[in-house]
Amino acid sequence: MKRLKFNLYGHHINQWLQKIPWKSPKVIGSSLVILLMMGAGGYYYQTTTSATYVIINGENVGIVSDVSSAKNLIDNILADKGSALGVKAKTSDKIEYSSVRLSNKDYKQLTEENLTEKLAVYVEGFELRVANNPIFVLPRQEEIDKLLKSYQEMFAQPDETNQITSVSFQEEVGTNTVEISPEKVITYERALEKLKLGNVQKENYIIQPNDSWWLIARKNDLKTSEVLAANPGTTVDTVLKPGQTINIEKVSPYLTVESKGTRTDKEIIPFDEVTKIDTTLASGQTKIIQEGRDGEKEIKYSYEQKNDKVITKTILDEKVIKDSTPQIIAKGPKREPVVVAYSRGSGQFSAGMIWPIRGKINSYYGYRNGGFHNALDINGSLGDPYVATAKGKVISAGWNGNYGNSILIDHGNGIMTRYAHSSKLLVAAGQTVSQGQTIGLVGSTGRSSGPHLHLEVIVNGDTTNPLNYLR
Ligand SMILES: [Zn+2]
Repeated sequence: MKRLKFNLYGHHINQWLQKIPWKSPKVIGSSLVILLMMGAGGYYYQTTTSATYVIINGENVGIVSDVSSAKNLIDNILADKGSALGVKAKTSDKIEYSSVRLSNKDYKQLTEENLTEKLAVYVEGFELRVANNPIFVLPRQEEIDKLLKSYQEMFAQPDETNQITSVSFQEEVGTNTVEISPEKVITYERALEKLKLGNVQKENYIIQPNDSWWLIARKNDLKTSEVLAANPGTTVDTVLKPGQTINIEKVSPYLTVESKGTRTDKEIIPFDEVTKIDTTLASGQTKIIQEGRDGEKEIKYSYEQKNDKVITKTILDEKVIKDSTPQIIAKGPKREPVVVAYSRGSGQFSAGMIWPIRGKINSYYGYRNGGFHNALDINGSLGDPYVATAKGKVISAGWNGNYGNSILIDHGNGIMTRYAHSSKLLVAAGQTVSQGQTIGLVGSTGRSSGPHLHLEVIVNGDTTNPLNYLR
């Protein structure tokens, strides 16, 4: 305002000087006064500068040359703050200007850096909410839509082998508009990366006897490399001490894609084992006459899936591509099964057996569906560790036809136990195991309809009801 007054005054003087004839003595007297005034003014103009105070929310934050340069400065800051997000930031600060004349030595230009510190800026963003919890804020609604679509396509991608009938999110998904600091807004690329990575939660894990890095990973549904990465300085060779605490970083998805459809996949047909009596062999002696080979089949099934996990699978059609070749074993003329060769005894087991795994019993020992089930099927999840029911010696540990990955342990006194359908075996033939030692992980290998532990108790070559031995 002050600058404006000076200008008007100067302008008036000039107009007046031009209009009045110089010859008039009255005028000359007045002119002298005016010239004196102008001389003083000239000095004032040389030693001072016109400037503008920038006032933010009532606080004088600095000096700029004029209002338009202040506005430019603020415009630059707002553009700069939003540039990474492709938007222009805004401010709700009250900005005022005040014109002044300052002595030259007092004129110090406000820098963009200093003004940035004083100015509170925000952007309008779109907040993705999952089950009513805020997840990320993105600059635009279209980017949220694109993000959700990309995430769905990661798990539900139709092609010639996969026909999708429905895709949806398990959780309620919504968007809110928010006014937020630009630092809290992320780009579409970053949001997709975070969504793929999932929500990382840190936990402690206490090392159990018989634990290995691999087993800890399996128990926590992680990869060994992920467990090691959460514990800087460790390698697979780092010795684990029971009772010691390590870090576990569990990842849960922010969002669950539920998809349904029909898929065609190839699957292995495990080979059967066929035994033939060969009188040329001694009793109990065995010989493989034909190596078993797995076959391959094409299965068509309908499925329900959550992210990448298949929840239900209903077989619609099966087509054999390659038949399996049975393993043919010749054995000596005695009628006892092969296993008898290892151990014979009273069948008495004074110490008792412990449960290899705790779980619901899916199938008891005895007749079922017109056949005889010679074991106890105990429910478990894929990768659950199971233990030896009693101390003993591992007779075999490996792939065994319909049993899949299985372990046979001789406990002495003619008693053996078999553990079938494992996803992984943690012992080898010839090894001595103690009661309660983790020996394998639950799976669904071989002839199996889902993850469980098939436990046989064999006494002098014949299976018997495991419930008579387990305590
Ligand atoms: Zn079974």
